Amino acid sequence: MSGIRPTGFLHLGNYFGAVRNYVRMQEEFECYFMVADLHSLTTHPDTKELKTNVHRVLSENIACGLDPDRVALFCQSHVYETAELYLYLNMLAYKGELEKTVTFKDKVRQHPENVNAGLLTYPVLQTADIILHRASYVPVGKDQEQHLEMARTFANRFNHRYGDVFPEPQAFNYGDELVKVPSLDGAGKMSKSENQYATLYLSDNDKLIMDKVKKAKTDSGPTEPNSPKPEIIQNVFSLMKLVSGQDVIDKFETDYNNCTIRYGDMKKQLGEDMVKFIGPIREKAESIRNNPAYLKEVMEKGAEKARKSAAATMELVREAIGLNYF
Ligand code: AMP
Repeated sequence: MSGIRPTGFLHLGNYFGAVRNYVRMQEEFECYFMVADLHSLTTHPDTKELKTNVHRVLSENIACGLDPDRVALFCQSHVYETAELYLYLNMLAYKGELEKTVTFKDKVRQHPENVNAGLLTYPVLQTADIILHRASYVPVGKDQEQHLEMARTFANRFNHRYGDVFPEPQAFNYGDELVKVPSLDGAGKMSKSENQYATLYLSDNDKLIMDKVKKAKTDSGPTEPNSPKPEIIQNVFSLMKLVSGQDVIDKFETDYNNCTIRYGDMKKQLGEDMVKFIGPIREKAESIRNNPAYLKEVMEKGAEKARKSAAATMELVREAIGLNYF
């Protein structure tokens, strides 16, 4: 089970941190993937763009290879049971632990004018999303590690207080560790809204991709053979590893170690490989987005599957809590 907020355009971080794993998981597991529209209300109260963004996230997920016939691909707000479970879990979450969450502190800093209770209890809603389907594996990027830890805490607390209902959810990635796709300006990670020129979106056109990669931060190059790579250079190599062939990576590694590397050439190659990777996804997503009847069908089918699973869990939850008076 996992979700992505419809707060803007999907980017390479969303792809390599999350969606790539979704696509592989659909072959092996019973999967629930949602557009986290309720979560987006905590930071984006203006809903003018919401419908467009929901359609966009759905289209991009499908264009990346998610098969709506195979998985439950749905909108969070279509599964009303989420709100009920969120309410019960809120009685099990303490103000102190919620205030310590790193993402909460970041958001308070970014938007001091909108520190709402939903923002504080974001990890509780996220736990409800996950355990509503009694999910074990949650494919997410590295930035979600702490939220998953909290989801385990809340699920365990529920089990301890009311009896075993939920498995322990854990963050999941097919590689060795959770992924963080760095931004092109060497400052932090790619993100939907914070640093648009340093983030590669799955909707960027070829020229924009080439321009952004060209402007990626580099330095004047190594002066000693086999020197360790500074972080900004490591970031460019990390991005190359995501989309380029092994021969290309090996060539630039050798050039780096021999101090003959030309970052202009490296970024040109990286830009071209990014264009090859992103182009087909962008085109497919565009054609899906232009078919609202199909998207409606996807959302209806997804909501039906998700609500079936949610209803079964909520029977167990109400019984365990003791809300059975007849
Ligand atoms: P969000 O865009 O915050 O709704 O995140 C959706 C999914 O993408 C989550 O699983 C995140 O962990 C993942 N994600 C977002 N940005 C990155 C990034 N730069 N690198 C890796 N994963 C990311």
